[in-house]
Amino acid sequence: MVIKVGVNGFGTIGRRVADAVALQPDMKLVGVAKTKPDYKAQLALKKGYPLYASGEAGVGEFEKAGLKVEGTVEDLLKTVDIIVDATPGGVGEKNKPAYEKARVKAVFEGGEKARVAAVSFVAQCNYDKAYGADTIRVVSCNTTGLCRTLHTLDSVFGVKKARATLIRRAADPEDIKRGPIDAIVPDPTTLPSHHGPDVNTVLPTLPITTVALKVPNTYMHVHSVSADLRQPVKSEDVIEAFQRAPRVLLVGKDEGLISTAHLFDFARDLGRPRQDIYEICVWRESVMVVDGEVHYLQAVHQEADVIPENIDAIRAALKSADVEKSMKTTDSTLKMLK
Ligand code: NAD
Repeated sequence: MVIKVGVNGFGTIGRRVADAVALQPDMKLVGVAKTKPDYKAQLALKKGYPLYASGEAGVGEFEKAGLKVEGTVEDLLKTVDIIVDATPGGVGEKNKPAYEKARVKAVFEGGEKARVAAVSFVAQCNYDKAYGADTIRVVSCNTTGLCRTLHTLDSVFGVKKARATLIRRAADPEDIKRGPIDAIVPDPTTLPSHHGPDVNTVLPTLPITTVALKVPNTYMHVHSVSADLRQPVKSEDVIEAFQRAPRVLLVGKDEGLISTAHLFDFARDLGRPRQDIYEICVWRESVMVVDGEVHYLQAVHQEADVIPENIDAIRAALKSADVEKSMKTTDSTLKMLK
């Protein structure tokens, strides 16, 4: 079975999802929908991706700019099994009735409210819950990062309670509209932040409280995580659990990877598109256990960690593979490091 996939919204996440879909042996990228005939639309055509007009834009606007379009997003919906909606937060919910009308399954992103979809999703945590679902929401980059490591700890040792402080990049690299220039901004000042409840959309029984701060950089978030465990452990046990966990990568002093700048530099030579790091990077030597509580630091490439989840969400929705098979195919096509 080849799954016919469309992508609506071709920005930070949409472009990456489209490229990842194009790499899958069991998927066909039928087209991508854009609101503007800008350089991203030109790049889509250069890659051979059929282009469709979305949002306010009409076909004429693209033709005026000399770009070939196949039709509107409604036309795209007639030809796909599933649509990945990678439009800005809140727009996906407005687009949902069109997907329902076309009887097309949909994957939404983390900027949408959880109510947009039947399941909020992180593959290694709840793939089976999403199996056959008509709508799936891949949770945000931060939530994905917290779920991957905390679910690992909860499955292996049991987590009584977790707390996390998120140091967040203020804006993505191309985003010139957002971001503090010289400030550290509590986000929000009223605690806790929304990330804990968002983790609970995937891991409903995990008690977690989160705090978030925005800092003036564009590449990666760093999380400081603490978790009270249900059984006595040593830091080596936790490191071993992370070693075995899918999509979690241990990094550290041994390789000279001691900051997000080093991770960025490392990623530039990995040969992946756009310096993407799909794995959650846990600093090995940060893992510390005190009185039954484990503490660790992890880095999250905000533009990239949700890409494998989008691919697995497509397979889960179409019931085309079980979790092991889907994650294995995704990880090998994206050249993940383990
Ligand atoms: P983006 O702004 O980079 O891209 C959005 C795309 O949608 C653009 O191509 C834009 O032109 C298009 N668009 C705008 N309005 C539209 C409309 N009405 N109809 C159709 N298309 C429209 O946004 P992004 O960062 O890729 O975010 C997309 C989703 O992914 C959001 O839910 C966001 O919260 C989530 N997300 C973003 C990141 C990140 O780091 N950027 C990480 C994880 C999840």
